Amino acid sequence: MPKSDRPRAPAPRTSTAVPRPSQSILTVDLGAVAANYRTLRARLKGAACAAVVKADAYGLGATQVAPVLAACGCRDFFVAHLGEGLAIKPLLPPEAAVYVLNGLLAGEEAEFHANALIPVLNDEGQVERWAARARATGETLPAALHIDTGMSRLGFSPADAIAFAGKGGQRAGLELRYLVSHLACADEPDHPLNAKQLALFRNVRAAYPGVRASLANSSGIYLGPDYHFDLARPGSALAGINPLPGHPNPLRQVARLQGKILQIHEVDPPQTVGYGATHRVAGRTRIATIAVGYADGWPRSLSNRGSAFVGDVRVPVIGRISMDLTTLDVTAAPRVAPGDLVELMGDRLPVDDVAAAAGTIAYEVLTRLGKRYHRAYIGGVDASS
Ligand SMILES: *Cc1c(COP(=O)(O)O)cnc(C)c1O
Repeated sequence: MPKSDRPRAPAPRTSTAVPRPSQSILTVDLGAVAANYRTLRARLKGAACAAVVKADAYGLGATQVAPVLAACGCRDFFVAHLGEGLAIKPLLPPEAAVYVLNGLLAGEEAEFHANALIPVLNDEGQVERWAARARATGETLPAALHIDTGMSRLGFSPADAIAFAGKGGQRAGLELRYLVSHLACADEPDHPLNAKQLALFRNVRAAYPGVRASLANSSGIYLGPDYHFDLARPGSALAGINPLPGHPNPLRQVARLQGKILQIHEVDPPQTVGYGATHRVAGRTRIATIAVGYADGWPRSLSNRGSAFVGDVRVPVIGRISMDLTTLDVTAAPRVAPGDLVELMGDRLPVDDVAAAAGTIAYEVLTRLGKRYHRAYIGGVDASS
C-alpha cells in the first residue's frame, strides 16, 4: 500500500498530553531517574552500572525511562519477561544489551534471536536450547548464567554451576557474558547471608575464568566494593526507593502523585465516612473527596492511616479507601476547593513512607500504580554528561 495509507502507530503519551480536568496526575521526573543513575554509578569504581527496568521500570514507564538511562551511558538493561525486552530494545542504541532474567523457555529461541535479546539461562535445559539455536544458525549467541547463591528462586545451584563449568562442550556456540546472582538481604547490611552469598558466588566464579560477574542490586551497591564485581544491577534505587532502610535516602524521588479534588463538603457528628462507617467525625469536619482509589493501585490498607499534603498542610485519610475515591479531612485547610490537587506521594511523602503506612514495600506501591492517572513525564536528560 502507498506509504501515506499505512496505519500509524499512536504517538507515545508525553508531558504535552492534556489531562482531563477530573484526572489525578502521576508525574515521573526523568531528570531524577538520570540523577539517581549517576549517583549509583559514582559509587562503582571498577564496575559498570546496568539498569533493571522490569515491570515497566517499576511502574514508571519503561519506554520512557530506558532511553533516558541509555542517554546517560547505560548499556546493560535487565527485564523479567521476553515481552518487556521486546518493548524497550528498539528504543535503545544497537550496542545496548537487554538481558531477560526469567530465562529462555521452550519455543522462545527464535524470538530471542531475531530481536537480539540475551537470555539469563537458569538451568542446563535452557543452555541446551540456546546452544542448539547457535548451532542451527552458525552464530555465536550471547548469554548470561544465573547462579542461585541463596534465593532458591532461579538459577543453577553453586554445585551444579561448578560441575557445569567443566562441560564446556555443552556451551559450544555460546558467549557467556556474565555470571549473575542475586542477594536476598542486601538491604540488611549485617545479615550473615550477604557474606555467605558472596563466598558462594566467588567460588563459582573461580570455575569460570574470564567470565565477568554481576551480583549487586541497588542495596548491594551500598554493601561496598566486594559486592560490585564487573556490573551492578540497580532497579529500585533508580526509581527513588531508598536502598538504605532506616538511613537518609541518597536518591531523589521520581514519582509524584497528585489527587484531584472532586467535591468538598462539611458534615457534623455523629456522621460517619465511607464503607463500613469506620470513621465518625468528632466535630464539624470538612471533607475532600479525591479521584484516587484502590483501583488506581492506591493501597486500601491506607484507609484511616494514610495522609496527603494540601499545600503545606498535612491532612489525614479518613474512612475506607474505595475503588475510585479517597476521603481526606481537610478541616485544617479551609481554602482548598474542588479542582485543586493534593499530594499523595512526592518529596514530602516519599514512596517508602507511603509504603510503610500501607504495610507494604515501596516496590509494590510503584509497580501497582494504576492506568487511570494522567501521566506527565518531565525533565529530559542532557546526553552529554
Ligand atoms: C529485581 C532484580 C534486581 C534489581 O533489584 P533492586 O532491589 O530493585 O535494585 C536485580 N537483579 C535481579 C535478579 C532482580 O530480580
